[in-house]
Amino acid sequence: MRPLLVYVHFPWCLEKCPYCDFVSYKTDREAIDHDAYADAIVRELEARRPWLDGHALSSIFLGGGTPSLWAPHAIARVLEAIRASFPPPDPRQADLEITAECNPSSLDRAVARELVGAGVGRLSVGVQSLDGAQLKFLGRLHDVARAIDAIDAAVAEAPRVSADLIFGLPEQSPDEAASHAAELVDRGLSHLSAYALTIEPGTRFGELARRGRLPTATDDATADAFLAIEAALAARGLDHYEVSNYARPGQEARHNLGYWRGASYLGLGVAAYGYGPVDGGAIRYRNATDPERYVAGARVLRPGAPSLDDRVTVSVGALDAETLLRERIMLGLRLAEGLDLAAVARELGLDPSEVFRGRTAAIERLTRDGALAIEGTRLRIPPARRLGTDGVAARLF
Ligand code: SF4
Repeated sequence: MRPLLVYVHFPWCLEKCPYCDFVSYKTDREAIDHDAYADAIVRELEARRPWLDGHALSSIFLGGGTPSLWAPHAIARVLEAIRASFPPPDPRQADLEITAECNPSSLDRAVARELVGAGVGRLSVGVQSLDGAQLKFLGRLHDVARAIDAIDAAVAEAPRVSADLIFGLPEQSPDEAASHAAELVDRGLSHLSAYALTIEPGTRFGELARRGRLPTATDDATADAFLAIEAALAARGLDHYEVSNYARPGQEARHNLGYWRGASYLGLGVAAYGYGPVDGGAIRYRNATDPERYVAGARVLRPGAPSLDDRVTVSVGALDAETLLRERIMLGLRLAEGLDLAAVARELGLDPSEVFRGRTAAIERLTRDGALAIEGTRLRIPPARRLGTDGVAARLF
């Protein structure tokens, strides 16, 4: 049985943040048809399921958007349908990891309790900052007190809690970024994700930056904040297991580890991506980004692999072994454990010695520069160079 990750996208938020390029639509909670969306997800699940025979359920992730806005009874129905569709996870795993992303503006103790009652075991809270002015700059609806209350509510109700922080903000000192990370962990988190602010085209920040009107941090200040956060969390016993992620031992996000290690994933819902085997190769598909089109299309989905002939899928592409290898290098090098290039090559049906032969010069150059470490056939990026992971990976293509 191959492991399967299931991702469910919930595409609505109470506000659109100016830096956000996720598919999310601003709406009021009352305007969402919670049951119709759950119906569509369950229909899509039933249609896609036969394509994924031979997989066992490894984790479920409710992402968005803001899944903490979704009615808990609708979440419970979706989770039950997913669990009933696939064999249970590897018995060596203690439990099935089920995560829901939450925003402080829609998370209090009662909501946290309802989410846990619906079957969610891990809450991931979008705190982003513990400074009022920075939260305003980021266009967030919550203030610092609300963020703290949401974290405390999550920690009180859920077995596992993570938070997201953004660093590399204008006029934010490295010490301040580290102090936010430390304060959150001291409130009982077992996991923290810390992302450098990135300016994406097509967002309000992207437009302001294009016109030269967006204050930004320097690259040096961002790099210093990255190292300060790492030091503060190491002092609290959290491992820096992925470029943007820290966890107490055993509390790593198993769902995301699955992505980085190349597992199949079933994406359900508006704009979701999925990836899985087909005819000895692999495909990646994407669903419609328009909620109305998605819900209408899900009603008439027929069983089988995603195809451009159905009304939900908007793109589907075959991935050859070389493309998959590049992706695995890109993703695997994000992990502290790195990747065993020979094992990945074998898994993809490639000749490991050929894979190394074509990269010998690049590997030698990178190791000489201190940007890459190699032990046997395993490649890793040393801690001091991890902020530049994508650049190192690209030089191995
Ligand atoms: S809450 Fe999250 S998903 Fe929603 S707009 Fe803001 S960053 Fe995007």
